[in-house]
Amino acid sequence: MVPLGKHSPLSDFNCITIKIGSALLVDAQSGKLRQQWLNSLAQDIAALKSQGIDILIVSSGAISLGRSILGLSGQTLSLPRIQAAASAGQVALSEAWRDALAQHDITTGQILLTPNITEERRPYINARNTISTLLSLGAVPIINENDSVATAEIRYGDNDRLSARVASMIGADCLILFSDVDGLYTAPPNLSPTEQNNTTTHIPVVKTITQQIETMAKGATSHLARGGMATKIDAAKIATRSGTSMIIANGTNPNPLAALSMGAKHTIFPAKQNPAAARKRWILGTLDVKGQIHIDAGAANALFKGKSLLPIGVTKIRGEFEHGEAISILDPEGAEIARGLAGMNKEEANLSKGKKSQVIIGMFGHMNRTELVHADNLVLIATKGMTQCAKT
Ligand code: GLU
Repeated sequence: MVPLGKHSPLSDFNCITIKIGSALLVDAQSGKLRQQWLNSLAQDIAALKSQGIDILIVSSGAISLGRSILGLSGQTLSLPRIQAAASAGQVALSEAWRDALAQHDITTGQILLTPNITEERRPYINARNTISTLLSLGAVPIINENDSVATAEIRYGDNDRLSARVASMIGADCLILFSDVDGLYTAPPNLSPTEQNNTTTHIPVVKTITQQIETMAKGATSHLARGGMATKIDAAKIATRSGTSMIIANGTNPNPLAALSMGAKHTIFPAKQNPAAARKRWILGTLDVKGQIHIDAGAANALFKGKSLLPIGVTKIRGEFEHGEAISILDPEGAEIARGLAGMNKEEANLSKGKKSQVIIGMFGHMNRTELVHADNLVLIATKGMTQCAKT
């Protein structure tokens, strides 16, 4: 059981991304999976899910597992061998998660990401849709970097930052980084007592990531994971900017979520706003508007009720936009009432304009092309009985 009483650091969250470091999943000596520990984590995940919390896992461990599977333990590996290890190891990793969660009747779905997916609009929207559909079907997405094809130039390189991108993309309100450290210290905790000065202390809350915090984070590493504390601080910047609070905790012992919930030592970086507000700000403030969509009064009313923008209500289209780019939505008087991410490119939007969804399905053969802007990707600017309709 993972208790979520009001003193639990997890009690405020509805959607949690959990990053599991290689050092937790794979035994450093044998290179084998720490099966009992994984089973205990699966038990915690099932307990949280039964309390209505959506869970996403970003799991490292493919390269470490692949090394022992391919007989490459203890060697310095060339890039092709690392990528081969990742390929063999990912199969085992995926199976391990599937089997551990299946014991609790939880289904998993594997997602392997490369940076272009979280940085470019179109793949971003597709990945977001796939992950949120898995969640809505009750499954737990198991996510890793696509290490066997990503090259040095196009890598996240560590799962700390990848998990922050994922949490931000999906609008998770919490990201937990489980590794072999229990948070941020004023000096790296893996130094010997004589190397540390006597004033080394644990930092439970980081409200603002100052230059001093960044300096403290340098130098703390784990022997199996790629990321040290510095990548965790980068992850905290990505996460908190998107409205995701981030927690660093030691996951080494069994049932790490239950332990955290009962007050185990950790460092939290609280987000200053919620993911919906951050997403709204992102759509409104940081994206260039590529097109203008004029709509009729019926469509405008539907938007104010929190509905998606359907092509049937579109009267005129201006500008050049691709799927996933920001577009502005104007009412019959020409006033901007909303902004959103286009679910179609300009050509598709023009072909669909004024047509019913059934006709559009016949034209494109894709269910997902019936909305010009999905409600989840839409932010109202004018208020008519509603203040916000962007959901996460
Ligand atoms: N993606 C790597 C793996 O699965 C791990 C990267 C990391 O440790 O952050 O082995």
